[in-house]
Amino acid sequence: MGGSVKMVEETLKLAYGENSDLIKDKRIAAVQALSGTGACRLFADFQKRFSPDSQIYIPVPTWSNHHNIWRDAHVPQRTFHYYHPETKGLDFASLMDDIKNAPNGSFFLLHACAHNPTGVDPTEEQWKEISYQMKVKGHFAFFDMAYQGFASGDPERDAKSIRIFLEDGHLIGCAQSYAKNMGLYGQRIGCLSVVCEDEKQAVAVKSQLQQLARPMYSNPPVHGALIVSTILVSRKIHDLEYYSAIIGSLFSQGMADRIIGMRTTLRENLEKLGSPLSWEHITKQIGMFCYSGMTPEQVDRLTNEFHIYMTRNGRISMAGVTTGNVGYLANAIHEVTK
Ligand code: PLP
Repeated sequence: MGGSVKMVEETLKLAYGENSDLIKDKRIAAVQALSGTGACRLFADFQKRFSPDSQIYIPVPTWSNHHNIWRDAHVPQRTFHYYHPETKGLDFASLMDDIKNAPNGSFFLLHACAHNPTGVDPTEEQWKEISYQMKVKGHFAFFDMAYQGFASGDPERDAKSIRIFLEDGHLIGCAQSYAKNMGLYGQRIGCLSVVCEDEKQAVAVKSQLQQLARPMYSNPPVHGALIVSTILVSRKIHDLEYYSAIIGSLFSQGMADRIIGMRTTLRENLEKLGSPLSWEHITKQIGMFCYSGMTPEQVDRLTNEFHIYMTRNGRISMAGVTTGNVGYLANAIHEVTK
């Protein structure tokens, strides 16, 4: 039920660090999960079973499936401030107020990096303050990390939020996914981990996670786990040219840089067209998505008049923007926003 032990071992190192004491001390309960979604759902079910009266605090906005997941697990949802529509950045003051005002010991869902849909992440300093305040309040942080390596190109840097919480002694939960960073969407490969007080508790928690998995899907698929563990183990074997070629494209700066480059080009194009609006947020945001600030009506015009498709909240998938279409996109955005 817990899936590939090797894959889970290697996956924990990515999130918690190669030399993590938590791993050495066997304080992390972890199972292979059905990608990021499955990891979130397994945690939500675990939360409901062992903390039946608890709620989950979810950022506004968030990946829409978060609402479905915790709803179907029958965990009541509350929200906390995150995005500020006017600044198109983080509403840090309101976020901190919400953390302070939530009942002690609340559950908070945090995006570890490359927040979906806004592309707005707290700075390192802000993460430190969030972690501190959540510790004071005894809140539990559940990190959804669907894009490790996609935000900066460096999986270590993208795990910074989690590492800050660990330094502060939090017992966190974490959902990891290989759908985007390894392009394994169809394999449903990921991991759920929960940091425990000690090894004994970790054994018990893992056993309970497996009990939840058994009647739900019995056991996770093998193929994706083999791909991931083969690649992650081979990362350390430098004389295997074939593997290093794969690794070169994994979590690589190149992949993240291409998206970052497209952000710059899109913004420059809009500015060259003489758009009176500020498009600074396009380059400030991070990860796969650009939360453009366009209205649903403007998005409808892009679809109907220009055959450009995005979610109606104005979220552009930057992975779909290329040197070949960025000019066309900028022109169309300018047309519907001027
Ligand atoms: N969490 C967030 C924030 C996401 O954006 C996504 C993917 O869209 C997921 C989880 C789910 O990813 P997976 O395909 O691994 O289930």
